[in-house]
Parts: sequence; C-alpha cells; structure tokens
Amino acid sequence: MPPTISTNMDFVWTPEQLELRREAAAFAAEGVRKYGRHNVTWMNGYSKEFSRELAAKGYLGMIWPKEFGGGGRPPIDRLIVGEEMIKAGAPIAASWFGDRQMGPALIQYGTKEQQEQFLPGILAGETTWCIGMSEPNSGSDLASLKTSAVDDGDEWIINGQKIWTSFGADADYCYLICRTNNEGPPHAGISEIIVPMKTPGIEIRRITDMTTNRHFCEVFFTDVRVPKGNLVGQPGGAFGQTMRQLEHERGGIDRLVSNYAQFQHAVSVCDTTDPLVRQEIASLEIGYRIGRILVIREVLRQAPAGFSAATKCFCTEHQQCVDSFVFRMMGADAMIFDDMVQGLIYGPGYTIMGGTSNVMRNILGERVLGLAKG
Ligand SMILES: Cc1cc2nc3c(=O)[nH]c(=O)nc-3n(C[C@H](O)[C@H](O)[C@H](O)COP(=O)(O)OP(=O)(O)OC[C@H]3O[C@@H](n4cnc5c(N)ncnc54)[C@H](O)[C@@H]3O)c2cc1C
Repeated sequence: MPPTISTNMDFVWTPEQLELRREAAAFAAEGVRKYGRHNVTWMNGYSKEFSRELAAKGYLGMIWPKEFGGGGRPPIDRLIVGEEMIKAGAPIAASWFGDRQMGPALIQYGTKEQQEQFLPGILAGETTWCIGMSEPNSGSDLASLKTSAVDDGDEWIINGQKIWTSFGADADYCYLICRTNNEGPPHAGISEIIVPMKTPGIEIRRITDMTTNRHFCEVFFTDVRVPKGNLVGQPGGAFGQTMRQLEHERGGIDRLVSNYAQFQHAVSVCDTTDPLVRQEIASLEIGYRIGRILVIREVLRQAPAGFSAATKCFCTEHQQCVDSFVFRMMGADAMIFDDMVQGLIYGPGYTIMGGTSNVMRNILGERVLGLAKG
C-alpha cells in the first residue's frame, strides 16, 4: 500500500487557538504571581491550590471525553495550555500525572467503579498521584521488577520497594506497577494497581537530588493490603498498558519547553553581535521548531506507533543543548547557585525520566525501523 498522505496539514493557528494561548498565558502569569515561578523544571512546581484553579478554569481533563466529565476538546488545546504553563513556570506538577496519564489510563482500562471513584478527584484538582514504576534494580528493564502483589481473597497484599517515585510523599494515590504472577515470561505477570498512599505498611523516604529538589522518594511496601477491585485492566496485562501510557508520557510538550525561560534569559543577556553566538541561537531556534512539529504530530496521533521514543530523544536532547548554551552565556555567573543554575543542573534528568535516550533509540530501532534486537 502506498503511504497515506494527510491532506489536512495546516501550520497556522486558528483565531480560537490564538485566543486560548493568550488566555492560558495570562492564567499562567497570575499563577506565577500567586504561587511563585517554578521554571527550574515543571517537576518542581507543586501546588494543590493551583491545581484547583486549573480545574475551575477547565484546564484539567480538557481532552478527556465528555461522558467521563472531561472537556472533550481537541488535543491541540491541551498542548497550547500546557506549553504556556510550563514556559511561564506555573506550578502544574500536582495535577500533571493525573491529567496526562492516570485519567486517560482509567478511561481506557478502568472499570466503571474505578472511573466513578477516581476520575472526579483528578478533574477537580483535588487528588494527586505518583507513579510507582522504577525499582532499585529495575529501571529501564521494567519486566525485571520485583515488587509483588499476592492474591488474598478480596485483597492484594503488596511487598517490595520503589525508587525515584516523584511526589511519593505528597500524593494521595500511587499508580503501582507490580508483579502478580511469577509464571511465564517476565513481562507477562505484571499488573497495575491503585494504592492509596495512606494505607498502613507504606513507608516513604524523600531523596534530595543534586539540584536540592525533594520530589523523589523511596517507597517501601510491607504487607500493604488494597482491595481487589483496585487492579486496573487485565491481571498480568500491565506491560502493554504501561507501554501505551508511556506513549502519552513521552511525546508531550513538557519534553521540549522545560527550560525555555532559561533560553530566553540567555538570549536577552548574551552578545548577539557575536557571529558564533548568533549561529547557536539560530540552531536552537531550529531545534525548538522541529521539536514542536514532532510534538504536534504525537498530540494529533499522526506519528507512527512507537515514534514518541524519537520525539522524546530529540526534544530532551535539545533541552540539554539549551542548557549547555545557557551555561556558556552565563559565564562565571553559572558558579552562583540560584534558581537559574538549579534549573540548568536538572539537565541530565531530561534524558532519563520517562525512559533513557539509549532505551528510546532501542525502541526506535526495533519497533519503528524493524532492526534486529540488539
Ligand atoms: C526527573 C526524574 C523523574 C522520575 N520520576 C519517576 C517516577 O515518578 N516514577 C518512577 O517509577 N520512576 C521515575 N524516574 C525514574 C526513571 O524512570 C528511571 O531512572 C529510568 O527509567 C532509568 O532507569 P534506571 O535509573 O534504573 O537506570 P538503568 O535502567 O539502570 O540504566 C542505566 C544506564 O544503562 C543504560 N541502559 C539500560 N538498559 C539499556 C539497554 N537495553 N540498551 C542500552 N542502554 C541501556 C541506560 O540508558 C542508562 O544510561 C524518574 C527519573 C528522573 C530523572
């Protein structure tokens, strides 16, 4: 079959989209005025108050179907709002996981009871979520995870440890990826279970990273009991479900514009008459424009399956090029630890969170290019 060529490509924003962008930018600026600027990566801006305001404005669940309480709006609207929030440094972290991932996962795989129980809290900006995926000996290789949930009548009994759990200490719920079956191939026995973080048997220890951020946590589960009905989707079917969730996670605008404010600052203070500096600014601007097209393709679901791995690689590596440029433009000022520098040293994390660049290239090679497994 010849490749299908879309005839509806249009790179012009509509007047409604431009108005939405203006509105979102004003809303983000007000959020920054009230709750502070958090552009040392969006991960650092955690405000439950701002989540409620986002909800009241209709900026949470914007693209979820209306029958689930969402706005039923086109995906591009969420991209516009998200971009304005992140560029401004508005504190979106408390609502981001639920809005981006948990809600869509529950809509796709959850039972009616789960949807009724959990979606309204996310939509109202009242409940917050963390993602319990990585373990001390299991990060890239999800299939090797050890945290277990054992069937005990009406409940699951959970034992194990997670690490790098962003907001584990603040979240109401953990979207836990764990092993419910040891038989068969390793990836076949993994399930997704919702764990209320106040359940007895959960111990949480914060980790301070090198930027002094404290969202990372170690989460220990010792005989933690949760209702049987908290398993989402197919028992043992989480591997496929999680891969699809990661597709939502990897190709978003948050991968491109996390340090845009630093870029703007550097451009405003550097010597733009220097030809080498001008060349670099132009190169980075090209990167932003290519990255935005890749993200838009993901958001419109026009990219090939698995391609979000390439989008993530390109965009997050671009953010690291931005970091390098900003450091060089700041010169000796980069030795002073302030929020600008704090943001810049977050850079290595961009290509690790959500799957490392090496792993993204493996996915691209195997799933998109059809290369033999390495
Ligand atoms: C800012 C940030 C936020 C995060 N938030 C969360 C969260 O909320 N919840 C959560 O569960 N996790 C979270 N993580 C953890 C993240 O998902 C893992 O760090 C990541 O998946 C890599 O796993 P790892 O650290 O165990 O490294 P490893 O998997 O041990 O990898 C180590 C190195 O080996 C390379 N490597 C591994 N396998 C291969 C391979 N097959 N081919 C080639 N190279 C390979 C990797 O690229 C890497 O360079 C977060 C991480 C960061 C940086």
